[in-house]
Amino acid sequence: MPKKGNLSVICGPMFSGKSRELIRLIHIAEIAGQRTATFKPRIDTRYSHSDVSSHDGFHKGAHAVETASEILSILATYPEFPEVVAIDEAQFFDRGITAVCLGLVDRGRRVVVAGLDRNFRGEPFGSMPELLACADEVLKLRAVCMRCKDPRVTATLPQRLVDGLPAPFDSPEVMVGGAEAYEARCLDCHEVPGKPDYSVIFQEMLIDS
Ligand code: ADP
Ligand code: MG
Ligand code: ZN
Repeated sequence: MPKKGNLSVICGPMFSGKSRELIRLIHIAEIAGQRTATFKPRIDTRYSHSDVSSHDGFHKGAHAVETASEILSILATYPEFPEVVAIDEAQFFDRGITAVCLGLVDRGRRVVVAGLDRNFRGEPFGSMPELLACADEVLKLRAVCMRCKDPRVTATLPQRLVDGLPAPFDSPEVMVGGAEAYEARCLDCHEVPGKPDYSVIFQEMLIDS
């Protein structure tokens, strides 16, 4: 029996099925007789204050916590430490989330994390880059682009909309919302007014170095 656990990270834009997959994995672990504990950041109260929910109606009871370290304090209150720890919306947690996940893996736990790998600007989101780098297993999901509806399911980015129009680059990184504020889009259809041209920035970096 291996002594260490492992870290699986599920990422992708909104509506790509991350929460649904997280709930499915918890369900399967429970069928296999494993104890599970599920967490989400308190900021995300779109469908429920205490459940992890998918956009298509799947639910799993969860602890809504303020900080990453609160996950450890709550786990310590379990009479028997759960073998599987699931965390949704990991991008909203403080930077302690990576240490918490790796600490649990060190103690033999299976940790399954879901979160947005990129924000509405297309940039890496919160601790997701570290979590993805440390993961033993990565599942990068895609959604249907709501603009071109390409049947190859090409959307990798969250498009933020304000009154139906693309939100500008300088609007705040965090704005919790559902279908009224976000849709999934592919790179061709993703719009961020005022976004710097990364190809130019990259070229300047090459000239400087
Ligand atoms: P996430 O956690 O990644 O936001 P969910 O697991 O909550 O995703 O929801 C996935 C479900 O969302 C799909 O099974 C589907 O029913 C629905 N859905 C809504 N819009 C889309 C879309 N553009 N592409 C794919 N699925 C979508
Ligand atoms: Mg979700
Ligand atoms: Zn598209």
